[in-house]
Amino acid sequence: RIVAPSIKNDEEIEYEKSIRPLTFDEYIGQERVKENLKVFIEAALMRREALDHVLLFGPPGLGKTTLAYIIARELGVNIRITSGPAIERAGDLAAILTNLGERDLLFIDEIHRLHPSVEEILYPAMEDFALDIMIGKGPSARSMRLDLSPFTLVGATTKAGQLTSPLRDRFGVSLHLDFYKIPELVEIIKRSAALLKVDIDDESAERIALCSRGTPRLANRLLKRIRDFAQVRGDGKITVDIAKEGLRLLEIDINGLDRNDRRLLITLIEKFDGGPAGIESIAAALNEDISTIEDIYEPYLVQEGYIFRTARGRIASDKAYECLGRKRSD
Ligand code: ADP
Repeated sequence: RIVAPSIKNDEEIEYEKSIRPLTFDEYIGQERVKENLKVFIEAALMRREALDHVLLFGPPGLGKTTLAYIIARELGVNIRITSGPAIERAGDLAAILTNLGERDLLFIDEIHRLHPSVEEILYPAMEDFALDIMIGKGPSARSMRLDLSPFTLVGATTKAGQLTSPLRDRFGVSLHLDFYKIPELVEIIKRSAALLKVDIDDESAERIALCSRGTPRLANRLLKRIRDFAQVRGDGKITVDIAKEGLRLLEIDINGLDRNDRRLLITLIEKFDGGPAGIESIAAALNEDISTIEDIYEPYLVQEGYIFRTARGRIASDKAYECLGRKRSD
């Protein structure tokens, strides 16, 4: 699904790497987040201390990993990248932490998915730059404290609510990334096109931006597909006609909705008379997993006001009826 916010196959990882902003100046939008970070970074550099731990909230594809790279670069330190589910045992995290150099940056993506036994190791590490290790078993077991180099943890999470409060409390800085506005996405698309050496005009960039669900990852992904389309169907230049036709073939409409989104909305409207309908019933009607609907389809539909989540179930909004050209039955 092209609009699915997460990656990753190797090709996309390489592609993203080739167009990833390397400095705050190249990082478009999120002005408040950038301003905050710049102040904290400057202060840490002046004090010659590790930057306070930073927690980044926000949906996938909005630029959390990119920010972590930029922060490390501004601090002039090494970055080590990992993710919550990738750290299986406490020992794995202990190994990562003991290998960090002075003031290095550790980025943990999906930090809400850390195993509780791993998370416990992190508390003294974040607070005191220390590891508490148990030596031996049974009555003769004793705990030993191992010092770590001061480091900065940058944690990223898509689900603010799922973070445990002891973990959340240990971050000195918490920042929330918002979906991008159309002019920002236009700028991102034009910047990426320049790096890819593809010609694109403002109107075509705006077409792609409108379909990008406020998400740079999707904007870049659509740009790449339309570039390929322009090469095959045209002379390589992205014109409005090429962009329109490419987006039509990808089945993404001007609201950023794809076939699956529309299918969900149509089901809610036609089978459930617009709701309220329980998530289980909707999932059964669509023959999809509840988690697929909740994690992949719904966030954007809710955020854009196509669906309301209520205690009694999901309800299709007037906007959903309007965009699908349906009328409410009385
Ligand atoms: P996340 O970690 O939040 O899932 P990433 O940092 O991997 O998102 O960003 C996804 C892609 O979007 C990257 O390839 C990056 O180039 C691009 N991107 C993200 N934020 C910006 C931005 N503010 N300006 C320009 N490009 C961006």
